[in-house]
Amino acid sequence: MSKKPNQSASLREAAEAALGRPTENKVQDTNTDQLPSPLSERSSDFVINPRLSITHDFILGLQTAIDQTGSFIFMKDMAGRYTYVNYKVQELFNATFDEVIGKDDSQFFDLKMANDIFLNDRRVLDFGVTIEQEEASVSKTTSDKRIYWTVKKPIKNIDGQIIGMCGVSTDITELKRTEELLREGSEELKESQSIAGLGTYIFDVGAGVWKSSLLLDQIFGIDESYQRNVNGWESIIHIDDREMMHDYLLSEVIGNQKKFDKDYRIVRINDNAVRWLHGLGKLDFDMHGHPIRMHGTIQDITDRKIAEENLRVTASVFSISQEAIFITDAKNNIIDVNPAFTRITGYSHKDVLGQNPNLLSSGKHDKKFYEELWKSLQENGSWRGEIWNRRKSGEVYPEMLSISSLRDNRGNVLRNVAVFSDISNLKEHEAELLHVAQFDALTSIPNRILLADRMKQAISQTSRDQNILAVCYLDLDGFKPINDTFGHQAGDEVLIEIAKRIGVTIRGGDTVARLGGDEFVVLLLGLSKGEECVATLERLLAAIAEPIIVKNKTISVSASIGVSIYPLDDEDSDILLRHADQAMYVAKQSGKNRFHIYDVALDKRARGQSELLKNIRQALELNQFELHYQPKINLFTKKLVGAEALIRWRHPERGLLSPAEFLRQIENTDLDIAIGEWVTVTALAQIHQWRSAGFDIEVSINISGYHMESEGFVDKLQQQLSIYPSLPFGKLQIEVLETVALNDIAVVHGIIEFCRRIGISFALDDFGTGYSSLSYLSGLQVNTLKIDQSFVRDMLEDKGDRVIVQGIIALAKAFECHTVAEGVETEAHYHALLDMGCELGQGYLFSKPLPIDEFNALLK
Ligand code: C2E
Ligand code: MG
Ligand code: MG
Repeated sequence: MSKKPNQSASLREAAEAALGRPTENKVQDTNTDQLPSPLSERSSDFVINPRLSITHDFILGLQTAIDQTGSFIFMKDMAGRYTYVNYKVQELFNATFDEVIGKDDSQFFDLKMANDIFLNDRRVLDFGVTIEQEEASVSKTTSDKRIYWTVKKPIKNIDGQIIGMCGVSTDITELKRTEELLREGSEELKESQSIAGLGTYIFDVGAGVWKSSLLLDQIFGIDESYQRNVNGWESIIHIDDREMMHDYLLSEVIGNQKKFDKDYRIVRINDNAVRWLHGLGKLDFDMHGHPIRMHGTIQDITDRKIAEENLRVTASVFSISQEAIFITDAKNNIIDVNPAFTRITGYSHKDVLGQNPNLLSSGKHDKKFYEELWKSLQENGSWRGEIWNRRKSGEVYPEMLSISSLRDNRGNVLRNVAVFSDISNLKEHEAELLHVAQFDALTSIPNRILLADRMKQAISQTSRDQNILAVCYLDLDGFKPINDTFGHQAGDEVLIEIAKRIGVTIRGGDTVARLGGDEFVVLLLGLSKGEECVATLERLLAAIAEPIIVKNKTISVSASIGVSIYPLDDEDSDILLRHADQAMYVAKQSGKNRFHIYDVALDKRARGQSELLKNIRQALELNQFELHYQPKINLFTKKLVGAEALIRWRHPERGLLSPAEFLRQIENTDLDIAIGEWVTVTALAQIHQWRSAGFDIEVSINISGYHMESEGFVDKLQQQLSIYPSLPFGKLQIEVLETVALNDIAVVHGIIEFCRRIGISFALDDFGTGYSSLSYLSGLQVNTLKIDQSFVRDMLEDKGDRVIVQGIIALAKAFECHTVAEGVETEAHYHALLDMGCELGQGYLFSKPLPIDEFNALLK
């Protein structure tokens, strides 16, 4: 290895360099490219201490010291060749003293480095500069890169002339590395702290003040100006945590001398946000055990706390949920269940862990059901529905189940979470509710709601099967007296018994429902012909009529049944029921304890009538009615004395309609009155018009019995008449059928009496068709008797009719009435009437009823 260095030479300089004596013109320079300007040296700097006695021993001692030092000490001549190297240098160069002396650095370093050293040396040698600098060098022999702190100084002779240089190099490689590490370390530490959100602090207990890192300032939300004292610290802590912190510090950290390690809340100064912090700290104590300083880190852990809280809530939801929850992994094996799961299914956590949930299946659902469940789960990520499962006990129960899949970013299923509740109670309750909603509470048979449902089904089934459905509306006869006599409880018992009897009489597919009160509906399905229905109805009537024993009393009821038949009556269920109800009413009217089948044809006619009424009402509004006038002739003078107003309907499609075609249909309706009023108004206006034109004609109008006897008839008439105050008495006559006048003689008498007083006379129309009697005629103050045309027509041939006509004429005379013969068609009739002393007549012989224009023409 290293050769034993040969020690000799000029130690005076070496000693000086080794001692590092300060010089005033020392230049620190790490830049080798820049040459400093030459500086003058004062030789007095190099005077050897005169108190030193430089003996051989001294030199030896010095040499030993120089060789023992850890530094590299060397001297060079003006050419940069080594004149002295200590043992350390020899070791470095791996050469003996003799091998080094006289050589320059090119022998020991590579070319580039040797050159650098040479240039450096030149500054010392040529300009007398002292150089102190860091030098990196790689030894040729060890090729180890080292860093040195090198001091180079010129060596001058007595005259101050530079004769060489000396240098001391100290290997600072290790020092450098340590320094570097330290520096890097503190940088990294800072960065780690900032990543971790760690703020640091030091608290001086004695002074009561603390210092904080920038990060801690951010955590606290404070700036430079914040008072970092005890108060300042306390006011940051959340008020609810102050006492806790105080106790903790006092008893744990100070009292037990433990490390500070606590989570607590603060209210951040800049925004008042409540934040969770985790504090770590260490308290230093003095020799007497008094705390002097505390230092440590503080971390904002709010996000973690929130996450923890969420997790805790989630976990508690899982455990306290009343709904059963189980979680399966991607392979659908159960990995967790909650207590509710155990409560509902009877399976413990241990029982089901790792099991497939199909251990719960009841076997009530087919493969398709589960396939669809899985399909929905795969496609939508969830499924919800009712499912029947089996408890550990074997009991099958219904549950409402929701399953959701949790997936990763790539869509792979991680977990399935199933939540379910036992809905057995709900189901039972639902069934109860359904029963209450659809069944009659008293008799337990279907109510109106379920009936509607059953009827719809029955109708579609009947259409499908192409047979007959009978809807029977059943009302008990004489039920009310049972309630009144025996009490409601007895009544209820009767209803229950009747429901029972109907139930056993009808067939399996038939329905009996109670509508309420004593009304029932029976649906008879699948009938092939009407007789079948009749047989069942008779059986029903018989069963109901059987005596019932209630409270030891024998009670008898019967039923009236109305029946509508589908599809004969091709209507919906509501109308079928209404028709059956109407038919039931007929059955009641016709004597009870019987059935009546709704007559569709009759109904059609009735409906035709209602259509007609609508049209008549419309015709009245559209002014399609008109009055035709038939002259009344004085048979003796053959002069026109008056006219009868007869209504016509000028129908837009059917032409001119006579009263026979529409009047009967409006009988006893409000339209009857409306038409009568129209006739009155029109006739009065016509009389007035004629009078204005100079024709003084008496006009008779026909008024129905219903109209005349209706409320307000006379008032209305008076009102209509008042429009023409100048109209003399007797210009308007009302013709009313003899049969009507006869019906309610007292009322009619009053009306005739009133009308007479306001100047309106009365004629009894179609006289002879009623029960004309003397007493009756004497009571009515009528003005005219109109002999019915049937007598007139046949009187020439029929002796009986002739006698009647003669009788009427005589009667009229006795009561001082006028007589008008209707239907005078021939001269023969005319002469016969004339012979019999009939005063007036009307008929085709003289004129047909004429439209107003023609009548006016006749007048002229
Ligand atoms: P009515 O009051 O007995 O009227 C006489 C009917 O005999 C009229 O029929 C008339 O056209 C018809 N007649 C007249 N001369 C002859 C004849 O020589 N031979 C034959 N065969 N018939 C003759 P019309 O107009 O069809 O009226 C029929 C019935 O309708 C009337 O019988 C009357 O009861 C009723 N009527 C007519 N107009 C009205 C009205 O405005 N109101 C009411 N409530 N009923 C009316
Ligand atoms: Mg008439
Ligand atoms: Mg008549």
